[in-house]
Amino acid sequence: MSTPPLPLSSSWNDPLDARPDVGHALFSRFRIGTRLAAMMALAVLVAVVLASAGIQGLATSNESLRTVHEERMKPVRMLSQIAHLMLSNQHQLQMALAQTAAQGTPGRVMLHPDFARNAAQAIEHNVIAINQLWSLYTAGPRTAQEQALSDRFASRRAHYLREAVMPALAALRSLDYQDTQRLAAQVRQLYERASPEVQTLIDLQFDQARAAYEAGVQRYEQTRRLAIGALLASMAVLGFLGLMLIRSIVRPLRQVTEVFRHIADGRFDTPIHVQGKDETAVVLTELRAMQHRLASNEKAIHQLAYYDPLTDLPNRRLLRDRLQAALTASRQDDRHRAVLLLDLDNFKNINDTLGHEIGDQHLLEMAQRLRTTVHAPHFIARIGGDEFVVLMDQLSAHEAEALAEAQALAVQLQTAVARPCPLAGQVYHGTASIGICLFRHHNASIKELLKRADAAMYQAKNAGRNGHCLFDPSLQTQQETRAALEAALRGAVAARQFELHYQAQVSATGRPVGAEVLLRWNHPVFGPVAPAQFIPIAEASGLILPIGTWVLEQACAQLKAWEAQACTRHLELAVNVSARQFRHPDFVAQVCRALEQSGANPARLVLELTESMVLDDIANTVAKMQALQQRGVRFALDDFGTGYSSLAQLKRLPLHHLKIDRSFVQDIVSDPSDAAIVQTIIGMARNLGLSVIAEGVETPAQRQSLLQLQCLVFQGYHFNQPLPIGLFEQWLEQPPLSSVPTAANATPVASHQREVP
Ligand code: C2E
Ligand code: MG
Ligand code: MG
Repeated sequence: MSTPPLPLSSSWNDPLDARPDVGHALFSRFRIGTRLAAMMALAVLVAVVLASAGIQGLATSNESLRTVHEERMKPVRMLSQIAHLMLSNQHQLQMALAQTAAQGTPGRVMLHPDFARNAAQAIEHNVIAINQLWSLYTAGPRTAQEQALSDRFASRRAHYLREAVMPALAALRSLDYQDTQRLAAQVRQLYERASPEVQTLIDLQFDQARAAYEAGVQRYEQTRRLAIGALLASMAVLGFLGLMLIRSIVRPLRQVTEVFRHIADGRFDTPIHVQGKDETAVVLTELRAMQHRLASNEKAIHQLAYYDPLTDLPNRRLLRDRLQAALTASRQDDRHRAVLLLDLDNFKNINDTLGHEIGDQHLLEMAQRLRTTVHAPHFIARIGGDEFVVLMDQLSAHEAEALAEAQALAVQLQTAVARPCPLAGQVYHGTASIGICLFRHHNASIKELLKRADAAMYQAKNAGRNGHCLFDPSLQTQQETRAALEAALRGAVAARQFELHYQAQVSATGRPVGAEVLLRWNHPVFGPVAPAQFIPIAEASGLILPIGTWVLEQACAQLKAWEAQACTRHLELAVNVSARQFRHPDFVAQVCRALEQSGANPARLVLELTESMVLDDIANTVAKMQALQQRGVRFALDDFGTGYSSLAQLKRLPLHHLKIDRSFVQDIVSDPSDAAIVQTIIGMARNLGLSVIAEGVETPAQRQSLLQLQCLVFQGYHFNQPLPIGLFEQWLEQPPLSSVPTAANATPVASHQREVP
């Protein structure tokens, strides 16, 4: 059995959802440990890359700001210094002029030498500084615009130095006030001309510096944004990968959990999809194999629990379930349903004679035929041995129609069973007995339904087998009585509930020549039970074997006891033998054993057989009779006239007596045809050399009629009723025919035997 492969699942909510999951497919190629290690490595790598990128970005920002500070602000500072120095020159000249004027020398005004010298030195120093700064400034890189501006300022500066500053220096050195004053004005004038130029240049430089700074700031912002973006992106990617990783582990585990839950609920059909080669895939593969094993075990257990191992048909347990369902359904509709109990006739014979293997083969063949005869919605089960039950569902709401449907199926089933069947090299024609029980509106329990069908089936059996009967409530009572009697019979011998009664066989002169042993059962609850009621049950159940043995032993012991008394020594004692007892392979040995153990004279023992049992297997019967005859045992044919034995068959049997059945004696006086039959029997017996005993002689007239027909031995209430040994022996001591004990004056033997209802 193989589980169909599941599609991949992508749903978190349904672990058994098996839609394609590419992530899982990718992940589950690797072991969980490998996946976790790879995940960690990736996280570390991303952290390293991000950290180094951030560091680099910050370094770049830092560098660009430093450049702004170092490179771009330097020219600004140099140009500012130049402007400052130019302004300073002007101040120096003003200072020198101011000192002199304060002395107020008339005529030619002279500058104060110290102040003039100081101012000259300062201006010289300034000029040197201006030239140095300018050279430094012009040494650096410049843009075209800057170049143009610087060129213009250069000419202004040169002009300023050449035309104003240098002459002013000379005037200072010559301490000439007027020249100095004039040239100071020149210096101021040229400075003012050059000042806007230098200011423009400073502004330009400053603008460039600011642009560089802004670029630096921008780069920093960019780096920051990039770093944050990269951090978020890598977190998202790592998060997603982590999620996928967790999912690739959790999802199969959820599937495992779900499968276990289903298994715990008794479901073994959960589809398990195995993807990849990781640990969870191994677990799922094992789980799937386990589920398969459990499913097949479950199936086997179910098969064993609900199906018959021989025929594969549903068994009694499954039948009960179906009956329960049918009973429940019957509450809701008006339809009839039916239970048909089919029992194969004589199946036991097949088992006993051909062996169980052949018996099983036959059962298999019959089961197959019945199975093909019963179609849905009807249901067939084997409930044991050779018993099958058909549950017919959904029959008509009208009883007559439903019964017709059930009977039609019963006929089909019988026809199926009756078809020729090869059995142990021969062709066997089987038959079956079927009991039918209709029900509706939940009007009976399962047990009751089966009991009813069983009772009906027994009715069919009793009616000669190979037929079907509808359940009849009165039959069920009989059935129950029968079952109760059978149960009670089982312990009857041990419980000493049996007793033997003796009925005399009397000669024409009225002398007792023998007696018949008749079994009596006195049950503590049921009271006296008639042999006609319990003997067939004992026969059918096999209990007749131990009972028959007991009777035989008691009878032989009695014979032995009679040998001690003169009045009984000559008596024969007849013992009834049942068919089953006689057919038992051990029968001859059993009789011999009883004779040996008791020491009774075999010549006084008469075994009463019936026509039907001797004719059943005449060769075997003759062999057994001869074997016992050799020991001296004699035989009587009981109830003669009721069977169909022919003269030819009778001739083969080593018989001594024929017992004319009571039914012919009963009306012998009034019915000439009965008298004719009795006469024929007597004539035939004489021809065969047999003595005749008339049974059931109740009146002197009957005795008289029989006597006239040459019947010389009689048995019946006219002489005595069957009596317990004490009373019988008392009766023997009476003079011939002087007293006939009756139910009234002897013991209520006949009257106290009653049928157990
Ligand atoms: P059966 O062997 O034909 O026995 C004669 C039956 O007729 C006895 O019935 C007896 O009581 C009854 N009977 C005798 N005389 C008269 C009469 O004048 N009028 C009427 N109406 N009946 C009379 P019982 O004792 O009820 O036995 C019935 C049958 O049970 C016997 O028929 C015999 O077949 C069987 N049976 C009795 N005891 C044994 C036994 O120990 N072993 C076996 N296998 N069968 C037994
Ligand atoms: Mg008899
Ligand atoms: Mg009889």
